[in-house]
Order: sequence, then C-alpha cells, then structure tokens
Amino acid sequence: MTGGAERPEPLRRGDREIVGDAAVEAVIRRCACCRLGFRDGDQVYIVPLSFGYQREGGRHTFYFHGARQGRKLRLIRESPRVGFELDTGGALIPGRDPCSVSMGYESVIGTGVVRLLESPEEKRRGLEEILRRYGQAEAPLPEEALEKVSVFRLDVEELRCKARR
Ligand SMILES: Cc1cc2nc3c(=O)[nH]c(=O)nc-3n(C[C@H](O)[C@H](O)[C@H](O)COP(=O)(O)OP(=O)(O)OC[C@H]3O[C@@H](n4cnc5c(N)ncnc54)[C@H](O)[C@@H]3O)c2cc1C
Repeated sequence: MTGGAERPEPLRRGDREIVGDAAVEAVIRRCACCRLGFRDGDQVYIVPLSFGYQREGGRHTFYFHGARQGRKLRLIRESPRVGFELDTGGALIPGRDPCSVSMGYESVIGTGVVRLLESPEEKRRGLEEILRRYGQAEAPLPEEALEKVSVFRLDVEELRCKARR
C-alpha cells in the first residue's frame, strides 16, 4: 500500500501486490489511460482520460485536461472525491481446460481528491506533465492553449498496485 489511507483493505491475493515506489511507478508509466470514477447522485460516472503523473512530496499526483464544460467538469466541482483505475491491458494466459484460463495484467486502483487548476502557471505545469507522459513536451505551450482547456489534478489518498504476470 502506498499513499496514506489509515486502514487499507488487505489484498486477497497479497502475493500479487506490487510494492515499492519504483515498481509501482513503472506500472503507472506503462498504462495508457486513467479511469476516474465520480459519484453523481445515486449514479456512478467512470471516464477514461489521458494523464500526466508525478511524485510530489512522496505522494502520487495525476494531471488531466479536458473541455471547459461537460459532465466531468461539473462533477469535479460537485463531487471531487473519486476512485481511479489504470491498467496495462490484459493478455490471455491459456490453460489446459476452460477453468484454468486466466488473464495477465498490471493494474492500479485507488482513491483521491480532484481539484481544478486555476492559475496559468499551475495549468501549464499540469499540461506539461501530460505532454511529457506521451513524449510530446518539446514545443512550448502557447498562452491561448491554456485558456481553451480545463486542467485538473488528482491528489491520491490511497493507491494499490497488483499484477498477474
Ligand atoms: C483512452 C482515452 C483517453 C482519453 N483522454 C482524454 C483526455 O485526456 N481528456 C479528455 O477530456 N477526454 C479524454 N477522453 C475522452 C473522455 O473519455 C470523455 O469522453 C471526455 O472527457 C468527455 O467527458 P465529459 O464528461 O465532459 O463528457 P460529456 O459529453 O459531458 O458526457 C455526457 C455523456 O456522454 C457519455 N460519454 C462521455 N464520454 C464518453 C466516452 N469516452 N465513451 C462513451 N460515452 C461517453 C456519457 O454517458 C456521459 O454521461 C479519452 C478517452 C479515451 C477512451
């Protein structure tokens, strides 16, 4: 477990838990997108997003960007406590019979709080983290680009990583 929850639920398959900052970060960096799960009244809204990632002060921080309107943006304001999930995709592990067929994966599940970034400096930093994550950070970001999008961060409270390889 990494991130700060008081009493994390034990992993039933503890032998599959990935621990250690470097190992967990390596899995995160192999994931293509991050799914955020918002509470929306008596519904749940799960939205996949591209992300930037950084360790700040020993904590996991994710950055996201999007339009300046829409359901996700409303929920960031109304319901900022989220669950999240990332994975590297699955690869079938064939078995001798249907019951022993399995799926290989690496994944991360956690909880945290999202917050919209308001200042141009914070937004620029968030966008740069996202661009860096996808190897697109060479060119400087024009000022207008910052105004057109919303940028927000996820401060992680609990994060667990698990793999079946
Ligand atoms: C791999 C991946 C990466 C993405 N990266 C980004 C990103 O970095 N930034 C970004 O803003 N968006 C990204 N998207 C798109 C994102 O998933 C949302 O579609 C988008 O952010 C709009 O969200 P919203 O809540 O504002 O949509 P709204 O248009 O307000 O949503 C209205 C309704 O449309 C439906 N809906 C919305 N999005 C989707 C969807 N993806 N699939 C099916 N139904 C949907 C839902 O029912 C939702 O209630 C990505 C999608 C994928 C699959």
